[in-house]
Amino acid sequence: MTAQPVSSPSLWPAAHTQDARRPRSLQRQLGASDTVCERRAAYILSGAERTDTSDKRAAILGTYLHEGLLGSARTEYGWLVETSVADDTIRGHVDAVHLDAPTAARLPKRLRPTTPAQVTTVEDVKTKSTFLWDKVVRYGATAAEIRQVYLYADLLRTVGWVDKYGQKPLARLGPIDVRRIRFRFVNRDNGAEHVQEFDFDRAEATRARWWVQRVMEYESPEEASRSFDGPGLDAICDNCPFRTPCWGEPKTPGAAVQTVLVHNDADREAALAEYVRGHEMENEGKRIKARVRKKLDDSPAGIYGLNQLAWTGGNAVQEVDREAMIDVFDVLGVPVPEKTGADFERMETVMKEAGIAIPMRNAAKKTPRAIRVTAVPK
Ligand code: SF4
Repeated sequence: MTAQPVSSPSLWPAAHTQDARRPRSLQRQLGASDTVCERRAAYILSGAERTDTSDKRAAILGTYLHEGLLGSARTEYGWLVETSVADDTIRGHVDAVHLDAPTAARLPKRLRPTTPAQVTTVEDVKTKSTFLWDKVVRYGATAAEIRQVYLYADLLRTVGWVDKYGQKPLARLGPIDVRRIRFRFVNRDNGAEHVQEFDFDRAEATRARWWVQRVMEYESPEEASRSFDGPGLDAICDNCPFRTPCWGEPKTPGAAVQTVLVHNDADREAALAEYVRGHEMENEGKRIKARVRKKLDDSPAGIYGLNQLAWTGGNAVQEVDREAMIDVFDVLGVPVPEKTGADFERMETVMKEAGIAIPMRNAAKKTPRAIRVTAVPK
């Protein structure tokens, strides 16, 4: 890697410093976006110090992209973006709210959307990498993402917008009759969009509220369950500012932090049973995939129901055409280098040095052919 010249410092220290100043990074109150892990939410509510840092470059790029997209939607479509909602227990910023015509008509003209929504809709915009894209298209929002958006929607339905500078006309509307939820996923590598939409469900909103209530009732964060498997296994933990207090230090230096979960032989017995269960599931999964792979061996690529079949590889492998190489030497009147027979390695070297193209041909073998199954983009 080339060293960074002193006259051209990396941009990342500046980006990290600015990111640390964002209200989100400083807040001690529970934000709807903090409801991803029960224990993490409990740490925030307890006012615990954030002890751990992590490389936030990908997250910062995601934030820039998010701000850029929402800023464009506000300018071009008149969307209400990044507005604040809160009550006594929770607060957050709603990515976008699309008001229906009667509600929009109660706002000053400058705040009205270009096109009102059929029903008032809360929209959450998530940027995702290509690595996660198939999962996004196949399964949509995660349970934590759904909980987060329901908290926003329920705050709007019960309280409305926060009465603060910059959104006073919104606050004057009071509670908003949110009827629909929309997730808009944007692939941060290629810009693809995927939209998931459903009606607001009161039961789901109640479940999200209960989740927060339960976290608030813990007397100490350690009573809250860990929603993830820990550093090295879940990216959420790798980037969690509370990973040291959450997992502590392993008794054996250098061992995985998850060793803190094993205290005695009974724990080891349970862990081994879990390992065997995982092994059996893995074997069964491999068996199913191998059987299906053979069944589909001559099926053409295409869309079949919810899945898209594609093939990679199976291409001709190129190899040096030795007979043609001897012909080239003959035509040029150059003696063929010999060892026990023609020295083909030496011939290649001579031709490269002379700038003559080495004749190639398709070999009998082909590159390995691999199956690729992805969700059909909706
Ligand atoms: S380290 Fe993982 S499990 Fe622990 S609080 Fe953070 S996100 Fe939750």
